[in-house]
Amino acid sequence: MERKFKELRNRLHEVEDLRLAAALLEWDQATYMPPGGAEARGRQLALLSALAQDKFTDSEVGRLLDALVPFQEQHDYDSFEASLIRKTRNDYEKAVRVPTEFVSRMNIHSTTSYQNWANARPDNNFKAVEDNLKKTLDMSREYSEFFSGYEHIADPHIDRSDPGMKASDIKQVFGELRKELVPIVKAIVEQAEADDRPVKQEFAEDEQLAFGQLVIEDFGYDFQRGRQDKTLHPFMTKFSLGDVRITTRVKKDDLSEGLFSTLHEAGHGMYELGIDPSFEGTPLADGISSGVHESQSRTWENIVGRSLGFWKHYYPKLQGAFREQLEGVKLQDFYRAINKVSRSLIRTDADEVTYNLHVMIRFDLELDLLEGNLEVKDLPEAWHTRYEQDLGLRAPNDMDGVLQDVHWYAGLIGGSFQGYTLGNIMASLFYDQALKAHPNIPEQIEQGKFNTLHTWLKDNLYVHGAKFTPDELLNRVTGGPLHIGPYIDYLKSKYGQLYEL
Ligand code: ZN
Repeated sequence: MERKFKELRNRLHEVEDLRLAAALLEWDQATYMPPGGAEARGRQLALLSALAQDKFTDSEVGRLLDALVPFQEQHDYDSFEASLIRKTRNDYEKAVRVPTEFVSRMNIHSTTSYQNWANARPDNNFKAVEDNLKKTLDMSREYSEFFSGYEHIADPHIDRSDPGMKASDIKQVFGELRKELVPIVKAIVEQAEADDRPVKQEFAEDEQLAFGQLVIEDFGYDFQRGRQDKTLHPFMTKFSLGDVRITTRVKKDDLSEGLFSTLHEAGHGMYELGIDPSFEGTPLADGISSGVHESQSRTWENIVGRSLGFWKHYYPKLQGAFREQLEGVKLQDFYRAINKVSRSLIRTDADEVTYNLHVMIRFDLELDLLEGNLEVKDLPEAWHTRYEQDLGLRAPNDMDGVLQDVHWYAGLIGGSFQGYTLGNIMASLFYDQALKAHPNIPEQIEQGKFNTLHTWLKDNLYVHGAKFTPDELLNRVTGGPLHIGPYIDYLKSKYGQLYEL
């Protein structure tokens, strides 16, 4: 048994190495690769992911998993051995349903489709991506069919990013959240708009990067096991548990953009850096879901990084770095500026309160597309209609409409967006528990000290990697299932102080 378990581990290690090598090629593509490298890079990435898929779905892996059933039963549910076999079997059973031919076809299509979108977006040309997007939708339906027996055609896609969740679960949670959010948004936008001019001045790029770096080092993001570079779209990536990198994007005329992207991605990075190092080279060395991942980026970006307590400590430092711009701006006014709520067109620029409405629009449109109730050619208008209904705005073009997010143009349609809002909800659930264990966390944040919070998150969430499903993790940490209560309380209390609710 021990020998079989070791053999499984060796095979999994090779799969992981292939995947992580591909991640390095992707990181380079997004940071430093000259345009001339694009074609060969696409081919190399397709090869590596096909090799990883082949190796992982090898029938010998299935035989080992079968042979290891008694071994799994000998070990506690929480043990490394039982968890690794359980998680591997789960991944394996999903992976063998998807033919390697489909995976490589999809990778090749995604590369073309992404290039196509990258060219069409600045030209505001939806027509140019329409055919590729139709193909993406067809392939997304084809993917679902590999998982016959689903309740909703979007379920296999949702399960890819948020294991165990179904369209019906999300519809219910989103429905409840929507009911609470709509009146809050309405009450806020009827009041005088917050003045965000303090953050919309000229800020030198190097100083912005240096300030962000200072904060995330204080958070506990470890530059001995990570680094930060600049990209068009910020992201976090991992090549091993000793090398978890983040990227950011700086705008000279908007301080929020670079700073909060940095804090956000550092949150993702700290999650992965906190995984038990003995999981290296196994499927357990990973975040468990997009929702849990987002809960951590949002904890550090929003709950900590956009709080008044945090800025009591950091605002004098920021003023020191940008004397000319901020000397005359009071802390309270700066705090209002970085938490300005308004109806807007762009998801990634949206505030904490309206953000989830952007997500719900995309989630509903994905369901409509997959269900066949919406055709790709009608998508731009459906987008505008929903924005008018939900946010009271209509984009003047498709560039700020249906072309704004990369997701549908670089992967499949389905399951791409719900994780952001699930993350907001979970962030408050987890943070509440951290406060119960350590009520002095807010005081420590006011002193620029994050060790207690970081350690609690590491011990209770990060260390487990992908050992437990999101549901199991929520139950272990909070003692119950997903619910919106603490998140709504958080929004009402924070924005009730900034606005009249
Ligand atoms: Zn994120």
